[in-house]
Amino acid sequence: MNEFALIKRYFERPDGAAYTTSGDSGVVLGIGDDCAIISPDSDEETVITTDTLVAGVHFPERADPQLIAQRALRINLSDIAAMGAQPRWFLLALTLPELDEAWLEAFSLGLREVADHYHCVLMGGDTTRGPLTITITMLGTVPRGKALVRRGAQVGDAVYITGCLGDAAAGLRILQGGFVNDELTAADAEYLLSRYWQPAPRISEGLMLRDFASAAIDISDGLLADLGHISAASGVAAELATNLIPVSDELTKAVDEQELMATALTAGDDYELCFTVPLNKVASLESQIDAGILIAKRLGDIVSGSGVMCRNSKGQICEFADAGYQHF
Ligand code: ADP
Ligand code: MG
Repeated sequence: MNEFALIKRYFERPDGAAYTTSGDSGVVLGIGDDCAIISPDSDEETVITTDTLVAGVHFPERADPQLIAQRALRINLSDIAAMGAQPRWFLLALTLPELDEAWLEAFSLGLREVADHYHCVLMGGDTTRGPLTITITMLGTVPRGKALVRRGAQVGDAVYITGCLGDAAAGLRILQGGFVNDELTAADAEYLLSRYWQPAPRISEGLMLRDFASAAIDISDGLLADLGHISAASGVAAELATNLIPVSDELTKAVDEQELMATALTAGDDYELCFTVPLNKVASLESQIDAGILIAKRLGDIVSGSGVMCRNSKGQICEFADAGYQHF
């Protein structure tokens, strides 16, 4: 099998362009030409993001290829979610050490499953030989002027987070053989591992938040680091109450008490959305939460100043050393 046969076999759909089951993909020309052609609606803006996953850095070298593909796509989808956009199209740049058909079969299956679930279309890419690296570039659409950006938070806004924090870090630690904890059942471990491998991009939440949020970001590097980006971009500070940070029962069992808050606040890979809401919209947002339409929790407030500050239940300021993962 050569490069072109590989692309055709694993990444092209029988119907040519469309790599999805949904009908109107907006793809005019997909895989097989020098460029893909897409056609967004004229009343929309296009958001674009790219993320690279390197074997040995972002996932273990010998990991399940189906999970690698899914995680790569989900991470990109999370950036689209954080903009309040609808995911539409993506490109896949794949660097492979060898042509392993079983690996490609599982990888392309994982990719297709997630692409279909979130209705986005693989419209092209690049295939090269080298150390295993996956780069996905994803495009989404949002009505003109409605994208959620980092710079919109204002003093007085409330700070919210979807879901709960810290699970993915515990999952990664399990993966690396780091836990010996009798309390943790097989089901607990499975939950934490799935939070690492299969983070749920908060697409529907992001779409809904267009009507509520003044700023948003997805949590890839830890809440303190990522909320810090909202603070810096908006020229404000954030104040959080540590007793309001949502954590799962599984995480509570997995790590000891002193470690729990540091894990929830500074560990990355959760891909939840952190967002700010102007006070005049808090009541209607809370009613969505009460109705179970949105799973989110208020953690604190935007105040004047800079940075992110945490207070414990006694009102004391807490310091957390790690300010998020950085490659350099
Ligand atoms: P070019 O040399 O013109 O850049 P390529 O030979 O790299 O084109 O790729 C041929 C076609 O296959 C292009 O349409 C490209 O987008 C697509 N393609 C290459 N690799 C992938 C991949 N991993 N996934 C999806 N499409 C791919
Ligand atoms: Mg070309």
